[in-house]
Amino acid sequence: MDYLPVAWRLKEQLALVVGGGEIALRKARLLDRAGARLRVVAPEIEPELAQLVERQGGELLRCNYHPSQLDGVVLAIGATDDQDVNRQLHGDAVARHLPVNVVDNPPLCTFIFPAIVDRDPLLISISSGGASPVLARWARSKIETLLPAGLGRLATLMGRYRKPLADKLPQVGARRLFWEGLLDGPLMERVLAGQDQQAETLLQQAVENADRETLSRGEVYLVGAGPGDPDLMTFRALRLLQKADVVLYDRLVGPGILELARRDAELVYVGKARNEHVVPQDEINSLLVRYAREGKKVCRLKGGDPFIFGRGGEELDSVVEAGIDFQVVPGVTAAAGCAAYAGIPLTHRDHAQSVRFVTGHRKDNSVDLPWGNLITPGETLVFYMGLVSLADICRNLKAQGMRADMPAAVISRGTMPDQQVIIGSLSSLPDLVSAREVAAPSLVIIGSVVTLHPRYHWFASTPLNNP
Ligand code: SAH
Repeated sequence: MDYLPVAWRLKEQLALVVGGGEIALRKARLLDRAGARLRVVAPEIEPELAQLVERQGGELLRCNYHPSQLDGVVLAIGATDDQDVNRQLHGDAVARHLPVNVVDNPPLCTFIFPAIVDRDPLLISISSGGASPVLARWARSKIETLLPAGLGRLATLMGRYRKPLADKLPQVGARRLFWEGLLDGPLMERVLAGQDQQAETLLQQAVENADRETLSRGEVYLVGAGPGDPDLMTFRALRLLQKADVVLYDRLVGPGILELARRDAELVYVGKARNEHVVPQDEINSLLVRYAREGKKVCRLKGGDPFIFGRGGEELDSVVEAGIDFQVVPGVTAAAGCAAYAGIPLTHRDHAQSVRFVTGHRKDNSVDLPWGNLITPGETLVFYMGLVSLADICRNLKAQGMRADMPAAVISRGTMPDQQVIIGSLSSLPDLVSAREVAAPSLVIIGSVVTLHPRYHWFASTPLNNP
């Protein structure tokens, strides 16, 4: 590190600017914004710069540079095009141990001005240490797009409540939790939506109750983790996963996803294998409540989307009844993930105008479905949990009059590196599937959209088992 970034309080401090032109003006404006008092020295000073100095009560010295002008200043800027003057200023300042910057002349600088992303009072400075100002500006434009414009207002608001909060909560750790809890919640959302008044009311109440509420309030996040590929998680899913103290997951959640949790988070497996309920559903429900009551942030990670064949509703019931705060984060459901990665559009104007998600889960060894209802022309059917019942499903659909050569596909471990796609028809698919090992999880897509697979197939999976 060639330069140490610091945030320097210049309020009421005297700063010397040598130069009276455009470049001097630019630096003077910046120093003025930081509250510094200006001493500007030049035989000729542009009117705009002169006005600025007069307005802020600084000193205008319409004369040549002289070392005595460094008396009483905390920093010096060289902004003249006379390199002799700049060099002399640099030498004089260094001799007095004063920070000095000669604009666009790194060898004559003991400090440099970084690029700034300004969400005042939140400021981000970016410097390449003079190696590449273009790169620093590029980085700045990236950060500009990341940080919402309202952040400055949020920072100001939070600043005003620091003292009142410190009176309520003397412990630093408790205050940190307080702010973190508010930041990812409604406070930020309100400010960014421009509802400053509501945000302030909310903050006021939160501060008033800060010592009464449990210091860290437990929360439950019901998060859809998508079908497997960690890249398919949403930003919010990732953010909440990284906030969680406890993560409850099951076998549909890929290992790549769990690696994104905090290192110190407690990972709890609550998976259910078919017919082999590792943790019964009501036990999962009460675990969520128990952890949250201990004040923990609990992330309940579900494969795909929590509200699509995910029992998300049931899991929330006990959370709602216990009055615990919660959020639900949607995820890419397996049908969407598998369809995309297998190159099978679920709808297509030439093939299907609707798509239906159906569960193929058996009850008492038979799939109980309104079969007659499922053979709508121009509709794609997606069967979740349908592999074991595949033969049943195909037989029933044929019995209702669906044509035997209707294209059908099984997608196993969709979106994951070992994804497999098996293509056939209502008649041929069950045999194709039983002839090989098909790894769970897998789903079935039935409909003429399946014929599009060779055309849109792009995801070259690397089968892990057969090299
Ligand atoms: N909530 C989940 C579905 C849970 S039901 C979602 O929205 O995707 C479990 C079923 O989802 C599995 O039996 C299988 O049919 C399907 N499934 C989940 N992930 C899958 C994947 N990566 N590939 C294929 N099918 C998957």
